[in-house]
Amino acid sequence: MDLGISGRKAIVCGASRGLGRAIAESLAEAGTELILNARGLEGIEKAADELRSRYGVKVHTLAGDLTTQDGCNRLVTAFPEADILINNAGGPPAGDWRDFEREDWQGAADRNMIGPIFLMRAYLDGMAERGFGRVVNITSIVVKMPKEILALSVAARLGLTGAVKAIAPSVAGSNVTINNVLPELFNTDRLRQNLTTLGAKNGRSLDEEIAVHLAEIPAARFGLPAELGATCAFLCSQHAGFITGQSILLDGGSYPGIF
Ligand code: NAD
Repeated sequence: MDLGISGRKAIVCGASRGLGRAIAESLAEAGTELILNARGLEGIEKAADELRSRYGVKVHTLAGDLTTQDGCNRLVTAFPEADILINNAGGPPAGDWRDFEREDWQGAADRNMIGPIFLMRAYLDGMAERGFGRVVNITSIVVKMPKEILALSVAARLGLTGAVKAIAPSVAGSNVTINNVLPELFNTDRLRQNLTTLGAKNGRSLDEEIAVHLAEIPAARFGLPAELGATCAFLCSQHAGFITGQSILLDGGSYPGIF
């Protein structure tokens, strides 16, 4: 299927590895011009070289922490226009909610709620004026299925989900959509780190911890980052203009509810 976004400008945050890197790959395959961001330059430069040589697309890089106002301003100054925005960054740490201090809650809010909101504020009006825009926020299954150990993530991401639902209708008439993609569990560095930490806590090896988690996924496997990348590329396509304000689970059937 031709996604109809060849030549569109796409900003992909957290693009050095994991899900962000996979989304960049799918958008490059669709012919978009890419602006890759992560905090360090090395990972995004490597990704940029690979994508340029594989797909022949233009790829720019900008290192910086977009959860800070300075990082956000530098991105917007360097790239004032974008047609597609993928909001993605690392998640907050897991742990006992009683152990987290005020700055931990504020850090989670900055990274997983306020940072994405400010990037939307920077780009949405321009998208609406030009009559095309696609925003995808990478959040988490915890938005629909909260877990105590991930309370920081639940709180920040639900804030973003609420803001998206409030904002999306205001730009829908200009062919600008905003959706959230909720992963669980995808085979990335973060997943392996989390399972290593959990295993140590539970007195299990990494392989044992992996087996425990696989047993809870009806699909009996972890998600492939490329599957999430392709889903995001479709949500950014010309064909997805009637999907907005949604939170879309990619979870191999893990979520037990109907809605
Ligand atoms: P990852 O750790 O493998 O990759 C995260 C990427 O974000 C990296 O490129 C990192 O450099 C970048 N990054 C982190 N903080 C940043 C910041 N402040 N500014 C800019 N870039 C930043 O993680 P992943 O598995 O790809 O997960 C991506 C998102 O999806 C995370 O928010 C994670 O919590 C969420 N998620 C993932 C899963 C999963 O199964 N992998 C499940 C639920 C939620």
